[in-house]
Amino acid sequence: MDYVSTRGSAPTLDFEGVTLAGLASDGGLYVPQHWPHFSHADIAAMRGLSYIETAVRVMAPFVGSSLTEDELRSLCAQAYGRFSHAAVTPLAQLDETNWLLELFHGPTLAFKDVALQLLGLLFEKFLSTRETELTIVGATSGDTGSAAIDAVAGREKINIFMLHPEGRVSEVQRRQMTTVLAPNVHNIAIKGSFDDAQTIVKSLFNDREFSTRFNLSAVNSINWARLMAQVVYYFYAAVRLGAPQQSIAFSVPTGNFGDVFAGYVAARCGLPVERLIVATNVNDILHRALTSGDYSAGSVTPTATPSMDIQVSSNFERLLFDLAGRDGSALAKMMTGFEASKAMSIPADMLAGARPLFSSARIDANGMALAMRRASEKSGELIDPHTAIGLAAAYASDIPAEVPIVTLATAHPSKFRDAVERATGSRPSLPARIGSLFEREERCDTLPATTEAVRAYVSDRAIPTGA
Ligand SMILES: *Cc1c(COP(=O)(O)O)cnc(C)c1O
Repeated sequence: MDYVSTRGSAPTLDFEGVTLAGLASDGGLYVPQHWPHFSHADIAAMRGLSYIETAVRVMAPFVGSSLTEDELRSLCAQAYGRFSHAAVTPLAQLDETNWLLELFHGPTLAFKDVALQLLGLLFEKFLSTRETELTIVGATSGDTGSAAIDAVAGREKINIFMLHPEGRVSEVQRRQMTTVLAPNVHNIAIKGSFDDAQTIVKSLFNDREFSTRFNLSAVNSINWARLMAQVVYYFYAAVRLGAPQQSIAFSVPTGNFGDVFAGYVAARCGLPVERLIVATNVNDILHRALTSGDYSAGSVTPTATPSMDIQVSSNFERLLFDLAGRDGSALAKMMTGFEASKAMSIPADMLAGARPLFSSARIDANGMALAMRRASEKSGELIDPHTAIGLAAAYASDIPAEVPIVTLATAHPSKFRDAVERATGSRPSLPARIGSLFEREERCDTLPATTEAVRAYVSDRAIPTGA
């Protein structure tokens, strides 16, 4: 499978190339040159398959010749063997039409484990035949950092530097990062905000000499391999609920548009998807974009769903590319305009292309709390605030009664214990497997919020390419 950039001028790469590259050199994002097709017979043949076998079937066409089927199967077995549930991503039924797809059974209790556990192994596999080392630098407000660190801790030829704003992540989130003592893991607490941390990371990536010397790489969802790994659970859930005969709707708590884009990919590949509901919190740029074409970024309002407190959703560009007829130079013009003014109006004909599949909802703090209470009182399920945004949107949707609606449960409720307790009166307990988190030793360095300080820190510890 070949991959092309959404902005049309970066070189075409294979799966191995896009996995290691992350962002395309023209500033765009890599997408497959064409969408593979799964016939109804192909989908029916997935009935009864384990998660790992489903993953191999779904990902094989995207991986192409970069891995043999046996290599892919062995990486999936390793990645998903670390999940605490035999079904990896089990379904839970809430009522006659509503289901939860539990994506939080990985090592750090958030859905990001599903993609990052595999990505860590893919990095290691592809680096094993190369001379170069990889330096991952990232900023996190919580979930991505812990999932990325867990995925690469102890792996050969990879060093990870993760910046978090000092004192502004929860104690569970901090300990999930700082108690990983592998020598290739470097936690940095920045004396500043998440935005400061993100700005520092961006300026390191923009420093061409530095980013080439240390072979910098990103683990956020601009990386195609992450999205690909997420396509699997849409197939897995839909097949269990009756696909291909039955069409399924999905409600997705959305931040960077990665998770819901994976649902779009599943639909493009032939999975009968009735609807993708894009659920946002009050940071509602995507809801405005999909309802009125108003794609304009304001400032971020902090909420109880920090992983969705985003104004510009990078992966939306991948959808816009398809809606623009895959015209890379037209999209490059639109995106450069948007990057300059932080606003754009999506043309009506492009919006019409999104309409049959996508709908959206904006859920405020009250709507979120109501959904948590309803799930707890009516179905006996405690859900996390992010999942609650998705479920509130599912409850409010106009999907026909005979179509199952699957809400993606993106974090374990115990990761956000205070918010869950406030809404429901019940305090979720931490699963046994992370119970010892509070006794473990922590390691973390604190740095001022300047690019210079972080650059010097990384230079002292990362391995330059060719060294
Ligand atoms: C990252 C995250 C999201 C948002 O997912 P995107 O792919 O960025 O849209 C939602 N919920 C939780 C718990 C997350 O960690």
